[in-house]
Amino acid sequence: MDRSPTKILFVNPNRYHSPPVIPLGLEYVTHALRKHSFTVRVLDLCFSGDSFRELEEEIRSFAPHVVGLTLRNIDSVLYPDTEYFLPEIKELIGRIRRMGDLPVLIGGAALPADPEGILNFVGADVAVVGPGEKTLPRILQDVSELKGTRRIIYGEPPESFCPRRGELFSYKEYLSQDGLVGFETHKGCSSRCPYCMEAQSPVHYRDPSDVVGELRQLAELGITRLHLCDAEFNEDLGAALAFLRVFEEAGLGLQWILYMKPWNYSFELFERLRKTGADLVTLSVDSLQSSPDYWKDVEEMISLAGQNGIRISIDFLTGFPYEDEETLKRSLDFFRKTGPDEVVVNVYLRLYRRLSLTRIVQSDPSLASFLIGPKENGDLLAPVFYNHVLSERLRELIGQDPLFRIAGAEKIVNYQVRRPGE
Ligand code: SF4
Repeated sequence: MDRSPTKILFVNPNRYHSPPVIPLGLEYVTHALRKHSFTVRVLDLCFSGDSFRELEEEIRSFAPHVVGLTLRNIDSVLYPDTEYFLPEIKELIGRIRRMGDLPVLIGGAALPADPEGILNFVGADVAVVGPGEKTLPRILQDVSELKGTRRIIYGEPPESFCPRRGELFSYKEYLSQDGLVGFETHKGCSSRCPYCMEAQSPVHYRDPSDVVGELRQLAELGITRLHLCDAEFNEDLGAALAFLRVFEEAGLGLQWILYMKPWNYSFELFERLRKTGADLVTLSVDSLQSSPDYWKDVEEMISLAGQNGIRISIDFLTGFPYEDEETLKRSLDFFRKTGPDEVVVNVYLRLYRRLSLTRIVQSDPSLASFLIGPKENGDLLAPVFYNHVLSERLRELIGQDPLFRIAGAEKIVNYQVRRPGE
C-alpha cells in the first residue's frame, strides 16, 4: 500500500494586474496542510506568459494527487471594461482533466457568490466555501473520494494559527507592480448589507499574538506596508482593541491600511490605529442607510481619522432601486461638508445569484430596464449590473470637485487613493 504523503498542487490563476493580489488564503491553507504532513506545491500564474503550458509542465513534473485552484473573484466587478475570469478558469480545469484522472478542488473569496453555479460552470469536483485551514486537511485524507462528487463543503472554524510567511510567492514582483502583502485578524462579517457576498458570514477571530507573530516575520523580511484583508476591521471593538494593544507593544514600525464600517469605534481605536502605523482607512458607506445615527457615525469616524492624521477614503455605493436623485445629492453634499480625503462613488451594482439585492431587482419587472449584461440565462455568473444613475449625470453632479472619483472610470482599488498634491 502506498504510504507516501498526499501531494497537492495549488494554483493561483488570478492574472488581474490592477493591482496584482497575493493570494493570502493559499498561504494560510498551505501552512495548515504542511503542518499535517501533506506535500504542497504552489503554482502562481499571476505573471505567467503562458499559463496553460506552465500548468501542464507543473503537473508533469510534480505529479500531484489533487489540484486546487483559488478563485478570488468571478470578475473584476468594475463597470465598464469588466473582466470576466471564469471562462479562463474553466479552460485551465479542462487542461487538468485532459492530463489524467486528478480530482480538482476550488475555493477562495469568489465562492460565496454562487458555489453551485461556479462549481458547475468551471467543472471542478469539490467547492470549499469559507475557511479551508481546518477543513482541507480533513477532506484531503482520502482524495480518491473526491473525484466526480460535485460537492459543496462549507469550511469549519479554524483554530488560531501563526503561519509561515514569505515562502510561496514572489512578494517583490507583486510589490513592484503596486501590490501589497496582506494579513487577517479575523474572518467573516455579521452585517447584512444586501449587496455584499460577505454579509452574515461566520466570524472567527485569531489570537492577537499569532497575528503579531506573523507581522513580525513580515517585518523581518523587509516588508514595510501591509493591507489588512479582514472584511471590516471593526467587526468587534473589543477584539480590534485587543489586537491593537499587542501590535503596538511589539513596536514593529510597520505601516498598514484597512477597511472599516461605520460603527464600533472610539477615540482609543483611532489613536491606537495611528500608533500602530495605520495610515489609510477605507470606510464602506452606502446610501441605503437613512438613520441619522449612521451618518453621524460616518461623520465622527472621518473626524477621528483626521485628528489622528490617518487618511480616510469613502467607498460609497449608491443608486439602489427606487432611490431618487435627491438622495444622491444629499450624500454628495454630506461628503463635501465632512471632508474625507477621497470618495469613490460606485453606481453600478454587481448582482450575484445569492444576494438579497438581486431578489429585490428580480421581483420587480419594472426594474429590468436598468440591468446591464447577459441576464437571459439567469445564473448571473457572467457580469450583470443594476444601474439607474447615468454616468453623465453623475459627472454633472460631481462637477470638477477633486474630492470625488467614479469607480470604474479608472481601474483603482481602495489603497490607490490620491495623496495631497497628486
Ligand atoms: S459591512 Fe462590509 S463586509 Fe460586512 S456585509 Fe457590509 S459591505 Fe459586506
